[in-house]
Amino acid sequence: MHYDGMTFRPPYEAYSLLLQVTRGCSHNACTFCSMYRDVPFSVSPLEEIVDDIAEAAYRYPRARRVFLVNGDAFCLPTDALLNIAEMIHEALPTVESIGCYARITNIASKTDNELAALAQAGYADINIGVESALDDVLTFMNKGYTAAEAREQLARLNAASLPFNVNIINAAAGPNRIAEHAAANAALVNEAKPTLIFVSPLHVDPGTPLETLLDQGAFEECTLGQYVEEEIAFLEGLELDECVFFGAHVSNPIPANGLLPRDKEALLTILREGLANTPQEMRYSHPSKGAEGSLR
Ligand code: SF4
Repeated sequence: MHYDGMTFRPPYEAYSLLLQVTRGCSHNACTFCSMYRDVPFSVSPLEEIVDDIAEAAYRYPRARRVFLVNGDAFCLPTDALLNIAEMIHEALPTVESIGCYARITNIASKTDNELAALAQAGYADINIGVESALDDVLTFMNKGYTAAEAREQLARLNAASLPFNVNIINAAAGPNRIAEHAAANAALVNEAKPTLIFVSPLHVDPGTPLETLLDQGAFEECTLGQYVEEEIAFLEGLELDECVFFGAHVSNPIPANGLLPRDKEALLTILREGLANTPQEMRYSHPSKGAEGSLR
């Protein structure tokens, strides 16, 4: 199998077959992201994808889920995505669904009919880093879209019956806007009705523009306690049927993972009890900052 540079997948895709169809990220400019800084974006040659599907059919003949990597494989033209799906289903008949990372702008570049065709071809639970429902936070993160555009594109996925997961970065608006950010994010997610919500804290990775902004005093990082406070407020605001709440990434101070609405009160209890035991002043800052209480 071909995997060039760093390859990432969501934690809940741990058992999926990873098929590389692009390298890097077509945007590669989010303020907080260090994932693909050293990997120039390119599309995998078709012959490489064909070879990898043949190898996967030999090694993993009972694969049920394929996750296309890397950073935003949904940026590929619809014809290419449909061709890849056809090759996968032909070589791996047990595959039930195909996922990938997708940017809001990737969805916007496809017509309604194209989205419906992709859903028909097995694309499901694509993973979208929406991150925030506040425009100034999205601008600060350099995400390249507004909250209204995110809402519009997620609604188009629902209309096309193409299920999706969303990432929300809690505490991204800073310590003075916890309630505002949580409420805005909950409202967007309630409207979007994803299959899964992946909540994680904003942390400052070395070498990112966010680190520079932190150095310059243009960004104030939340403490772990404030992060958990925002996660609680966000969860309190969620009103969803049959949606997985995934807050069990290694970066989540208090692991909390369950199904909404069934587990909502149990998750809130875990987070509230965890908050009571969370070192209130600790932050995720990189040690080069000399931050007292740093986790790294
Ligand atoms: S779109 Fe995703 S992978 Fe690309 S730079 Fe932004 S956060 Fe990183």
